[in-house]
Amino acid sequence: MHRKSIVVLGGGISGLSAAWYAAKQGAERLQVVLLEGSSSFGGWIKSYDIHNGGVMEAGPRSLRASGPTAGTTLSMISELGLEASLLPIQSSHPAAKNRFIYLNKKGLILLPNGPSWFFQTKVPFSRPLLSSVLREPFQPASTEGDDESIRSFVLRRLGKEFADYLIDPMCRGIFAGDSSKLSIKSCFRQLYDLEKDHGSVIKGMIFGKRNKEVLQSSLRDKALKEKWSIYSFKQGLGELPNALVKSLESLGADLKLSLPCTKLEFTAAGQVQITTGDGKVTTADHVISSLPSKDLAQLLSPSQHHQSLRSELTAVPSVNVAVVNVEYTGQNVLPPQFVQSFGYLVPSHQKSNILGVVNDSATFPQHNRTDQPSTRLTVMMGGEWFEDLFGSVESTSEDHLASLALEALREQLGISQDPSYCKVIVQRACIPQYFVGHSARLERIREYIRSQSLPLTLIGSSYDGVSVNDCVHFGMRAAQCVAELR
Ligand SMILES: Cc1cc2nc3c(=O)[nH]c(=O)nc-3n(C[C@H](O)[C@H](O)[C@H](O)COP(=O)(O)OP(=O)(O)OC[C@H]3O[C@@H](n4cnc5c(N)ncnc54)[C@H](O)[C@@H]3O)c2cc1C
Repeated sequence: MHRKSIVVLGGGISGLSAAWYAAKQGAERLQVVLLEGSSSFGGWIKSYDIHNGGVMEAGPRSLRASGPTAGTTLSMISELGLEASLLPIQSSHPAAKNRFIYLNKKGLILLPNGPSWFFQTKVPFSRPLLSSVLREPFQPASTEGDDESIRSFVLRRLGKEFADYLIDPMCRGIFAGDSSKLSIKSCFRQLYDLEKDHGSVIKGMIFGKRNKEVLQSSLRDKALKEKWSIYSFKQGLGELPNALVKSLESLGADLKLSLPCTKLEFTAAGQVQITTGDGKVTTADHVISSLPSKDLAQLLSPSQHHQSLRSELTAVPSVNVAVVNVEYTGQNVLPPQFVQSFGYLVPSHQKSNILGVVNDSATFPQHNRTDQPSTRLTVMMGGEWFEDLFGSVESTSEDHLASLALEALREQLGISQDPSYCKVIVQRACIPQYFVGHSARLERIREYIRSQSLPLTLIGSSYDGVSVNDCVHFGMRAAQCVAELR
């Protein structure tokens, strides 16, 4: 049997997942090389230790335990032997249930977290949620175009208050993005499909079939039974890429750190030549790229005339986010109603320098320092609004961002004391934005690759989902498809 060679570009969670699923096929079947350009694996997943046992996250901080792609990560965690390290949060836990928004004149407002919201009128809504929900099945489905913004979809189906107080802040929390630009089809595909298939989201939720994508595993069954909402690991999310690296090494994969790919050329024989930062050229049967699409576009040789592919890849925008990890001494620093909560988001129609605040201590108190009581928070800033608020990412100083973050915490949470720890991490171009038309762009990109028979598969957050679960799932799918290719 011909031993197929695969090169995976990028050692973030997408690339590591694809390489791991490929390597599990057996070294005699697939030869797997992974190139990571930076000096560490994990990409945006970056857990780091602060003093005395405290753990902070510079990127993602929790994974969802449900949803169509969550089962893949849970099954991977089982296989990697990470179960003992899991920190699950059940959906009944206050840190899963209690989420707030911040409105300038009203302060912190609890978002719907139980059945009473359906029957009672509660701030910020002008009527019980049930009235919007009952009307939804009677709203006509869209007949215009194949895609629309999340905001326009929600305005049509559920009204302005849903769009302003629930969906707008949610988009800032997940994508650091603007719900009036983001695509419903690409960002919330399930909602889009429910309307397409059933004419209504509510009808579809009641009568539709459950998504079949979910990968079954005993850990997923446990998560379902115990009603997990989100989870992390004892040493932070970094445990997942670390375990993948260890397992990949034992499976015989060749992992290269600090070795960027600098050029990709496709040969007439249907192979791919990969030039690396050390000037060497390697030939492989297939390349799986998990790089941000813009970075991949730079690698495609202009002499090979893939101009349309290059410009489509370059056209997927992404935003900068400033992550400000803050620790205060003591546990009495927060307003009482906020102590047991996931955090709050500030809707885009409110004047504020921040996107929101994650109450890290409530979610994962195990990550607090062990020597004395403390409170850990993370302030998220920028996203789609980064340049408008702070100017160019190159010229914004970390000190300036830190002072704006602490000012927001003073004003919005009433915290007057100085922090015992504060670190600003500016993550450049870290969250791709799936604007209206993104899915059509992906179809054009994939059709081009197919029509030219390029030995290239695209994964990573630029394409089919930004959550870690999506990255793992589509990494697995890519490895399976490549293994099946002749
Ligand atoms: C601040 C923040 C908070 C988030 N919070 C959450 C959360 O709570 N939950 C959640 O599920 N998701 C969250 N996300 C999203 C999620 O973390 C990312 O979408 C995901 O980690 C992306 O993984 P990836 O492997 O696709 O890309 P990346 O992590 O970007 O990995 C790509 C890798 O490619 C490498 N690379 C680049 N160029 C080259 C080259 N030429 N050659 C070789 N290597 C190269 C890079 O160094 C990098 O390691 C968050 C993201 C951010 C930024």
